[in-house]
Amino acid sequence: MLPADQRGKAHFPQVWRADARVRQAIAEMSHGFCAYCQSPVSSTHPGKGGEDRPPGQIEHFRPKARFPAQAYAWDNYFLGCMGCNGTKHDKWPAGGYVRPDEGKPGSRFVFEENGEIKACEGDEQARCTVEDFGLGRPWLTQHRGTAIRSHLDFVRRLMGRPGIQLQDMLITRPVAFSEAINQNVRRVWANGRQKKPSRARPRRAR
Ligand SMILES: [Zn+2]
Repeated sequence: MLPADQRGKAHFPQVWRADARVRQAIAEMSHGFCAYCQSPVSSTHPGKGGEDRPPGQIEHFRPKARFPAQAYAWDNYFLGCMGCNGTKHDKWPAGGYVRPDEGKPGSRFVFEENGEIKACEGDEQARCTVEDFGLGRPWLTQHRGTAIRSHLDFVRRLMGRPGIQLQDMLITRPVAFSEAINQNVRRVWANGRQKKPSRARPRRAR
């Protein structure tokens, strides 16, 4: 039974907000990035209290308004940016959303070089995730596109040189938008190999 406020509405003591250890552990899970859009949350949230209280919002994957019994379930917490958390709010589609910690969530989306995102064909969970978290919102798309293209500039300069392997081109540390970047690296690499055995033609990013 949850305590009720004066109007009889369920009241959730905000442990996830108040306790620095909870915040730190949740932030650590997605390396300080939003678990949904992989933005650095520090850029959208001031973070009060220094190192003890990492910035960002604790997002209830299953909204506590609809699933009160999961308000304090550890596997229901993810670090979210204000954009994703605010856009999703209390929504919950019949089939749910793509869990950021299950399988290979990045492979369920198509990331274009210009930063646009689409759900994979026929993947209803992915479609709802793009739509309800606003993963295609303009500023996010722009930042994602810039991150993808700046890395691809580097990939295209090195592709075709002797001894360069795909593994050398992929981002192996968690950085902002690394899922989207790596998917594009793989695509560019595969296309480059199909076209010419010698050297891929560099395409200028806009
Ligand atoms: Zn986000």
